[in-house]
Amino acid sequence: MATIHCFEGKPRFSCSQCSTTVALADELISKAFSGREGRGRLLHSACNIKLGAHEQRQLLTGVHTVADIFCVGCSTRLGWTYLRAFEVSQRYKEGKYLFERERIFKDNAWELDDQPSID
Ligand SMILES: [Zn+2]
Repeated sequence: MATIHCFEGKPRFSCSQCSTTVALADELISKAFSGREGRGRLLHSACNIKLGAHEQRQLLTGVHTVADIFCVGCSTRLGWTYLRAFEVSQRYKEGKYLFERERIFKDNAWELDDQPSID
């Protein structure tokens, strides 16, 4: 797949295993999504990832065609991308990326994004 250039010096999300940049923090849509292993973050775009096989998966919000995404640096599974949603109300997720919260970290020191939340 095409690699999107990630600019150095911008807040970004990185692989928690090998620190490869996998997305720009600006691309964050929501951090309250459900991943397979807990919370997930939905992003508009990603970089430095490999796609797994397409598969249909029953998610909380219905059937979706998804492909797992893997870090190019260490091949850790980071989450998945939504290729197709069958429910019209879920179509906004098509082409977006869901990262498992524990698999990535936000790579800047000044925004304390990961403090315990109050929700
Ligand atoms: Zn990695």
